[in-house]
Amino acid sequence: MLKNCLQHPIYKIVGTVADEMGVRAFAVGGVVRDLLLGRHATDIDIVCVGSGIELATRVAHSIDPNKEVAVYKNFGTAMFHYRYNDTDWQIEFVGARKESYRSNSRKPIVENGTLADDQNRRDFTINAMAISLNADTYGELTDPFGGIADLNNGIIRTPLDPDITFSDDPLRMMRAIRFASQLNFVIENNTFDAIAKNKERIRIVSKERIADELNKIVLSPKPSVGFKMLSRSGLLSIIFPEFEALKGVETVGTRAHKDNFLHTLEVTDNISQHTDDLWLRWAALLHDIGKPATKRYDEKIGWTFHGHEVRGAKMVKGIFRNLKLPQNEKMRYVEKLVLLHLRPIILAESIVTDSAVRRLLFDAGDDIDDLMLLCEADITSKNQQKVERFRNNFKIVRQKLIDLEERDRIRNFQPPVSGEDIMRTFDLPPCKEIGTIKDAIKEAILEGIIPNEREAALQLMFDEAAKLGLKRTENE
Ligand code: ATP
Repeated sequence: MLKNCLQHPIYKIVGTVADEMGVRAFAVGGVVRDLLLGRHATDIDIVCVGSGIELATRVAHSIDPNKEVAVYKNFGTAMFHYRYNDTDWQIEFVGARKESYRSNSRKPIVENGTLADDQNRRDFTINAMAISLNADTYGELTDPFGGIADLNNGIIRTPLDPDITFSDDPLRMMRAIRFASQLNFVIENNTFDAIAKNKERIRIVSKERIADELNKIVLSPKPSVGFKMLSRSGLLSIIFPEFEALKGVETVGTRAHKDNFLHTLEVTDNISQHTDDLWLRWAALLHDIGKPATKRYDEKIGWTFHGHEVRGAKMVKGIFRNLKLPQNEKMRYVEKLVLLHLRPIILAESIVTDSAVRRLLFDAGDDIDDLMLLCEADITSKNQQKVERFRNNFKIVRQKLIDLEERDRIRNFQPPVSGEDIMRTFDLPPCKEIGTIKDAIKEAILEGIIPNEREAALQLMFDEAAKLGLKRTENE
């Protein structure tokens, strides 16, 4: 009996209305799983043996005669919002259904069915449980496939033959790995083998749906769990080959480079302890993506990946396009962090000069804090002494960033002398000399030769203009 789990008032209301209509109604699927796990959820799915749309409409009107219900006739579903505990809950209704599939589509043929039919069509045992809402059986769990045991043991398993389950709807392969990653569960062997066997079927799934699941893996507590499964099943090389290409270690003589796949996942897990920002996590995933393309072996120095940050930043756009991730400022943010990801590390390796820190601030702008997080996450050396040294130098870099920003305000650099100023002072049309003077001023500020102040910048403007043979206008 799970009466105590059913805190939300909607369950009792649905039960009462269902009794009046003479239909059986259940909370079903993900919401039952999350109730049992004590996980926060804001979507409640209700299934009834009868018309889901009619039940939804009657329930909504019993709460508030003016409540809006979104009805999706084609799908036989209906949904409304319900505010409770300062949270917006989505309550979705569907009639119990039976599904059958054809080989060329994820879209099933749907017929009305029993609760058992409805549970049979669900993807995993942990997602196939139902809790009765009718008064006579309120809170009774129907768990036909051992979902509770799998929840307790941390196992993802399909209710029916996994080969058929995944072949019918290959998105379920991504969902299996996504749930395993979110919940830190293992995928039962037969289920996992069926993913590996059906991996090619993923090609019939839309890229947007794949991206949704991939992003949920990226946002899971330890994204490495999901990415390792994606790779082991063979899905990763189909959906995201550039990431699979990070895998492997090459050795010449006694010299081996590190496995960039494992390193990248370690960095991503590290940063995930400090941020839930999807795009910063993507920056961690892609920070070394240019390494396979830039890998060289040099007899004197060993393995090198020169310019991998530049190559990697250039790859971001194509990767985002293929994965149907946004082509907007989020993508440009990831490009920027990939491009700059070595900069704080280089600083932390040597003596930290003011001008180098100013340049870093100038290039990173408001993303400096994220960049610092990425770089700290990137320290995965096993050599504890080396790690300590980096961490200490990072402290120095962070302090200098604070001090210099206070003094020089470089973070959102606005030139203290504008192009307009220069044109007016020397009566110039737009021309390259303006850029030359502006660059000289910016460089002098970054180098610490002049402070970031208008007076000093104007003085330098006159000096530079004189070098270029420019004359001040009479009426200036
Ligand atoms: P989340 O809210 O984290 O996405 P969820 O399991 O609640 O997890 P939904 O997509 O809302 O995800 O699905 C609700 C329920 O519908 C699932 O728990 C499952 O029972 C069923 N379901 C969803 N997608 C599929 C699918 N592709 N194949 C079979 N059953 C599915």
